[in-house]
Order: sequence, then structure tokens, then C-alpha cells
Amino acid sequence: MAEAVTAPVLAGRRVLLLDRARVYVCGITPYDVTHLGHAATFVWADALGRVLRLLGVEPEVCRNVTDVDDVLDAAASRASAPYDAFAAVQQYHFEHDLAALHVRPVRYEPRAHRYVEHVIRLAQGLLAAGHAYARNGSVYFRGQDAAARADLDRAEALRLSAEYGGRPDDPAKDDPLDAAVWQAAEAGHPAWDSPWGPGRPGWHAECVVMAMSAFGVGVDVHAGGADLRFPHHAYHAAMAEAFTGVRPYARAWLHVGTVTVGGVKMAKSAGNLVLVSDLLERHTPAAVRLMILDRRWAEGWDFTDASLEGAAARLADLYAAAGRAGPAGEPATGEIRRLLAADLDVPAALEAAIREGGAPARLLIATLGLD
Ligand SMILES: [Zn+2]
Repeated sequence: MAEAVTAPVLAGRRVLLLDRARVYVCGITPYDVTHLGHAATFVWADALGRVLRLLGVEPEVCRNVTDVDDVLDAAASRASAPYDAFAAVQQYHFEHDLAALHVRPVRYEPRAHRYVEHVIRLAQGLLAAGHAYARNGSVYFRGQDAAARADLDRAEALRLSAEYGGRPDDPAKDDPLDAAVWQAAEAGHPAWDSPWGPGRPGWHAECVVMAMSAFGVGVDVHAGGADLRFPHHAYHAAMAEAFTGVRPYARAWLHVGTVTVGGVKMAKSAGNLVLVSDLLERHTPAAVRLMILDRRWAEGWDFTDASLEGAAARLADLYAAAGRAGPAGEPATGEIRRLLAADLDVPAALEAAIREGGAPARLLIATLGLD
């Protein structure tokens, strides 16, 4: 009998697991339609959960909703809607699109607006431990080593911090790379009472408390788009570790490669959004899933119509292989398990499944939700 594989390799590191895995997925900011770039992250996180289950490990997934967010506030204000009502409608559309892509429901789906008290406690703890300071109604986390975590030089860290709303030019900060755990109230944003006056939670702090509330001091895997590596994930890990003293906060990171169109990152401002709902009008969910998954998860890629045609053809090959008698039993299906456990190597597993046919092909279809 082949040796059973129960420990996946993720991002090049073997992650030993018993019977459960704590998986935190940075979810959506519900202010806009679901595009292929979002979908790629959530389909990969879903595939991770399915592969873990194949390995006998129950994935406990927490995928948050960032419904307290400066970009969301601006979109709600343009729509003349309260931020929470606006977010609830967008979240409905998002979940509808993910269900259409056969993304399984997650165990925890916390919404940031219900965790304001938690962020206040996080800020108090970071202040007490000397990792943060209160000034002008805000609480700032000392972020100097966050850049080093992401292997960035200071100039690049400052550039990304500005791009992702980190306000490095805020004159109240001791260091431009400090990050607001609590942001003093401003016009056009919701505000809650706090020991430092009215204000709202900072983005990174929201995810810290939602992850900690679901899972305690750390997670086995933290997943999100590659563009969240810095500042969001670097600060998340730094704040969590400063608060708990437990390192590392995450045993593995799944930074899913960015999807581009014509070489440009998908964004409303770039006018190149590819909507999930549009793709599903012309192709099956299985074809869209395979287009996303038939590559290494960390790799960025460029979407073209040919990508979907190619995925549909690969899927037809896989179905034809599954219809053959093919080999049966553990040695044959064990190869598929081994390849998927090896950093979710879907391309290699797909090659093997199409070559062998039979049970291995059927296992791959069932595991990746391609039926
Ligand atoms: Zn997050």
C-alpha cells in the first residue's frame, strides 16, 4: 500500500496537520461587482480546502467581509446609500457569483462592522505592550519592521503604503510606516465611540481581530491575493504577533497570483474588468474553475478568450479520460493525492488524470469541483 499523504506542502514548506486546518481568507470589500481577479483568489482558497479534505484534514475556513473601509465609504456616498446597506447588497451579489462557481460555503464569514469593540481591545493591548501610541484621536501601530517582513526596501514600502491607503504622509505619525489601528473620525466615514474619541477601525486591524476571534492566536494558512502581501498581510502578521507574542501568526501563506488583461491589473479604473457573471453566460462553472486552477497558484497570468477555450478543451479531455475504465485502486488515485498535496500542483495532477483515465480522473473532477 502506498504511503498515505496527509501533510501538504504549501509555498514550498511542509505543513504538518492533524485533523483540522485553520484557514483565513482575506475576503471582499463589498463595494463593487465580482471580477475574475477576486474569483481567482476565492476559487484557489476553495481548492485548498477541497485538497485538505481529500487528505483527511477538515478545513475550517474564515473568509471575512471588509464592510468598514474607506473605499467602500466613498462608493456608498456616490450611491447616496448608508455604508452598511450598500455593503449588504454588494455582498449578496458576491456570494451569488461564488456559489455559481461552486465555491463551497465557509464556516465563518465575519463582517468588520461587528468587530469594532475587538479592534478597540486590540489597540489597548498594543498600547499597553508599547507597540502602539495614541495621538490626535488615532492609535498608530509601530510598523518599521513590517517592510522587512515583506523583503521590501523602505522606498518601495512607502510607495505601496500610499497606494493602499496607508497614508504615509499623515503628520501625526512618528514614522510614515506606522499604521492606524484606530483612525480618528473624519467626515464621510462611519464613526464609533472609543477611549480615544470617535473613530473607526483600521483595515489591517479588522482582519487581525476577525482571524483571532475565529481561531485564537494563529492560523495554519492565510490566503489572499498577491497584492495583499504588503502592506495588508505584513501588518496583519506584525500586529497579531505583537499582541499575542506567538510567532509565526501564519504557518503558510497562499498569495494567489494577480490576473491581468492585456498585461494590466484588472480594475474598474483601468476599464478592463472581466465579470464572473459574464463568463458564466458563455461557459460552464467547471471551465471557468479549470482556467483558474490549471496553473501554479502563485503565478500571475493574463486573461484572454483563448484561456477559456483552452480550459474548456482540457476539461473535455478530462471528462473523456474519466469515462474510460482506466486503473483503479489506491496506487492510481494515490498519485493524484500526492500531486495535489505537492503545493496544489493541479497542472501535474491534470496531466496524470488525463493520461491514466478512470478512477484518477474521476477523483480529480470530484476533488476540484469540476463536475
Ligand atoms: Zn485581510
